[in-house]
Amino acid sequence: MPTLPLEASSSHVLAIDIGGTKLAAGIVSGAGVLLDSARTPTHAAEGPDRVLDRLLDLCRTLLRRSSVPVQRVGVGCGGPLDTVRGLILNPPNLPGWLEFPLVARLQQALDLPVSLDNDANAAALAEFHFGAGRGTRHMVYLTISTGIGSGLILNGELYRGKRGNAGELGHLQVRVDGRACNCGGRGCLEAYASGTNIARRARELAAQHPASLLARSVPDLEAITAQTVLQALQAQDEVAVQLWDETLDLLAAGVASTVNAFDPERIVIGGGITNFGDLLFVPLRERVAARAMPALWSGVELCRAELAADVGILGAAAVALRERQGLPV
Ligand SMILES: [Zn+2]
Repeated sequence: MPTLPLEASSSHVLAIDIGGTKLAAGIVSGAGVLLDSARTPTHAAEGPDRVLDRLLDLCRTLLRRSSVPVQRVGVGCGGPLDTVRGLILNPPNLPGWLEFPLVARLQQALDLPVSLDNDANAAALAEFHFGAGRGTRHMVYLTISTGIGSGLILNGELYRGKRGNAGELGHLQVRVDGRACNCGGRGCLEAYASGTNIARRARELAAQHPASLLARSVPDLEAITAQTVLQALQAQDEVAVQLWDETLDLLAAGVASTVNAFDPERIVIGGGITNFGDLLFVPLRERVAARAMPALWSGVELCRAELAADVGILGAAAVALRERQGLPV
């Protein structure tokens, strides 16, 4: 059965992507075509009212120059948030947004209905409708960058859980009593495999192996990033190989558990980690195959996300378009 037919719609929406470093907005058609876009720095330290003013300037500029009528606004924003009440609860990258009534404020200022979701769920919907998830009904989206975000599309619907926070696959516990995680738990996938934590683990290993290429390729160990790890890995540095081997095992454990739990057709992986290319996807498929239940892994595609830089705006658009068409959001 094909993806739900947003393509058939002639709606246009204003899509807003609120990040800790930049605000982006765009006019998007029902087929997921980005007709116009604009962005500006968030300056998050200035607090929600000033950020909202700048965001509204961006939106009004786009609406003024749009040649098509816009029926709805969609917003993707880092969580935690309350999608039922339209509140931003207290995201770590947006200081001062404590129970901030974003939906009500935008509705009042723009005089349009507003739909809100967290950025990972929005990105999952974007890949589902317009990207690498097209044609599926059961899709898992995993984005691995600074942190790990994810979204579950089950039976054609975004699975939200009781308050809208379901699908935190970055916090699957892949190692009992393992490394401490930002969420307060231990042994979470994110505590090992996010870009930030790959770099952190690399620094620790480099300190133990000062003669390694990983250690010698930077002026000081604090300069090590996930990109440094990739370069050392490409040069077959033993320490980088060991680090990546452990990372792949833990990622495979998380993905295999997800496959066993949800029986998806496709796993779509996005974010900076996809820069590892075949060094990621080829061994990850093999290791998931070795760990997942064969009947559930059979036929599952593990592939790269397609939407790249515009995924935030297209995700916010998908949230609005689904709501406009009365699809479950
Ligand atoms: Zn965690």
